[in-house]
Amino acid sequence: MISSLQIMGIDSSHIVAVNEHHSLHGEVKDAFCQMQADAAIEGLDLQICSSFRSFDKQLSIWNRKWRGELALYTIDGEILDANTLADEEKIHAILTWSALPGASRHHWGTDFDFYDKRNVEKLGHVFELIPQEYENEGPCAELARWVHTHCDSYGFYLPYHHYTGGVAREPWHLSHRAIAQQIQSHFSADTLAEQLAKSEMLGKQSVLSCLPELIRRYTYNEGVKA
Ligand SMILES: [Zn+2]
Repeated sequence: MISSLQIMGIDSSHIVAVNEHHSLHGEVKDAFCQMQADAAIEGLDLQICSSFRSFDKQLSIWNRKWRGELALYTIDGEILDANTLADEEKIHAILTWSALPGASRHHWGTDFDFYDKRNVEKLGHVFELIPQEYENEGPCAELARWVHTHCDSYGFYLPYHHYTGGVAREPWHLSHRAIAQQIQSHFSADTLAEQLAKSEMLGKQSVLSCLPELIRRYTYNEGVKA
């Protein structure tokens, strides 16, 4: 059974290497490798561009965005000035594009971002990880069509396929449904609150005041309440 430290990305003992750059939950690795092999039969190069991420890595991204060292964007991709935003606005601006430390699905080892490495390299394309690359004639579009059609038979789904008022649309983000659901059922907002309270996270008082709602809206991507 997965522990709360594993769920929050502090303990990575549930994670195994997939290749020299990426690692996933042991059972998820097997499902991914099967899907990758079957995609290869179709002539598609299914590769991971982001997989397991630790609490500290996510915390560093969060704090850099909070300080304005990394850009903040609206859902439409317009740049925001971190210094002019109220805490609550800043929280939502960050969470539209990156996860809360301890509440990233990438901590779980069940979730990863995929791309068509061969096509990107063949076209000499500067990869940005934006939806347009996964649509129409984009370098990852053919692969995305195949993955979106077949991922379910390998146990995967796309938690951020549609924008619901939570995380911006991510047609590249896959999650292993069964194991992610198991983890979700063990997820404790109280345990995460204790962890964040003793961390170096900027803006933590504002985050802690609405933590369960942030988890629901962004980690589970259940959108804004009607
Ligand atoms: Zn992702």
